[in-house]
Amino acid sequence: MKQSVKLIAGNWKMNGLGASLGEARALSEALAAEPAACRVALCLPATLVHRLAEAVAGGVVEVGGQDCHAEASGAFTGSTSAAMLADAGATLVILGHSERRAGFGESDADVAAKVEAALAAGLEPIICVGETLDQRQAGEAVVVVSAQVAGSLPSSLSGKAFAVAYEPVWAIGTGLTPTLEQIEEVHAAVRAAMIGRLGEGGRIAPILYGGSVKPSNAAEILAVAEVGGALVGGASLKAADFLGIIRAA
Ligand code: PEP
Repeated sequence: MKQSVKLIAGNWKMNGLGASLGEARALSEALAAEPAACRVALCLPATLVHRLAEAVAGGVVEVGGQDCHAEASGAFTGSTSAAMLADAGATLVILGHSERRAGFGESDADVAAKVEAALAAGLEPIICVGETLDQRQAGEAVVVVSAQVAGSLPSSLSGKAFAVAYEPVWAIGTGLTPTLEQIEEVHAAVRAAMIGRLGEGGRIAPILYGGSVKPSNAAEILAVAEVGGALVGGASLKAADFLGIIRAA
């Protein structure tokens, strides 16, 4: 299907101090001088969300968080609610990243509950799915990812702004990427699962690819059918690298 404007989102993970915002400022200034053909977002650690929002105010860089709690408030020491992210200036939030699914035991149901919380706070969720290397080698990638989409997307997403990110776990931070055919196959399956879950409401939202995207491979990946953008980890930390990906969109 014809995709609308692509979304290129950076995920700094647990990286970045105040001084790192110079990279975000450099990105924002470069995009002001030469506008991008896509949407651009930076998803930063919660400690930097408000400072990022101030640093890029008035520009095109959108501000995101990397996780939120499923509850709106309460006795959850150390957690950040979706409303807190929105209050700090975020408009997007990554949910269900494989590092949270694996490291913090987040299930599809947990992710769906967080998506509900994000929507209630007016945030645009970027919902991550992806198979492990074992699952890929067992020929289960499409089945696993389709099940994650079905379980992680609440029906309330229909008609709302959101994105799904297909991120093969074995491609994240490894320098490995699937073949373009493999990306196309899984993205088609993700779209079918989105439509199966949300009906017509599953046709519009972009499906991002994530996993070792860099300036040198971005153009070919972003040209694959149903690739509506990219979720970028390591290569989003430096403005110059991230711009190389943005300019390929
Ligand atoms: C990610 O963290 O979502 C990611 C895709 O990381 P990288 O680009 O470094 O593989």
